[in-house]
Amino acid sequence: MKYELPALPYAYDALEPYIDAKTMEIHHTKHHQAYVNNLNAALEKHPEIADKPLEELLAAIDTVPEDIRTAVRNHGGGHMNHSFFWTIMGPDAAKASASAGSEGGAEPSGDLGKAIADAFGGFAAYKEAFEKAAAGVFGSGWAWLVRDDAGGLTIMTTPNQDSPLMTGARPVLGLDVWEHAYYLKHQSDRKGYIGDWWRVVNWARAEEYYRAAK
Ligand code: MN
Repeated sequence: MKYELPALPYAYDALEPYIDAKTMEIHHTKHHQAYVNNLNAALEKHPEIADKPLEELLAAIDTVPEDIRTAVRNHGGGHMNHSFFWTIMGPDAAKASASAGSEGGAEPSGDLGKAIADAFGGFAAYKEAFEKAAAGVFGSGWAWLVRDDAGGLTIMTTPNQDSPLMTGARPVLGLDVWEHAYYLKHQSDRKGYIGDWWRVVNWARAEEYYRAAK
């Protein structure tokens, strides 16, 4: 089985003006494609594990043959993380934010909204904690809202392309804070990027991940 770059579920310019089309195009066709290619190249060396689900390989990364372990961790994680990332953003959120002006993005409702309020003491407190975590990632990595083993919600960060699945946590929301995700538009202003990212979060999709992660 060969991994393939999943189609972006919207146009490259669908998240404008918060995330620009050029960044989306390069991020998807160059960066994500490279993770896919490098993952396939690594697995070609070990066909005996190539058919195992990627989630399983990442969850048991220490059992992956040593000569491809780092490649599976970096490029398998990269493929997994980016495939997830595209789905938790969306044009509907971008449009709603644009019409709401400076009021900010949408907020989660339903079960996820309630769980976030319960876990963090309200959406504003959650948002602040998540932003702090994302801004504090040194170098390249990700900030995540995850569902842990006990079913609770936690914020975590991972370095490089490490996946929360490596710790047994199930991602509900994830933010790529590699410079390639924002440098063209926001340059060194990671906080500005994080602020804009809230405007494009697809909370309905995050809620689906939350429910499925039980
Ligand atoms: Mn990325």
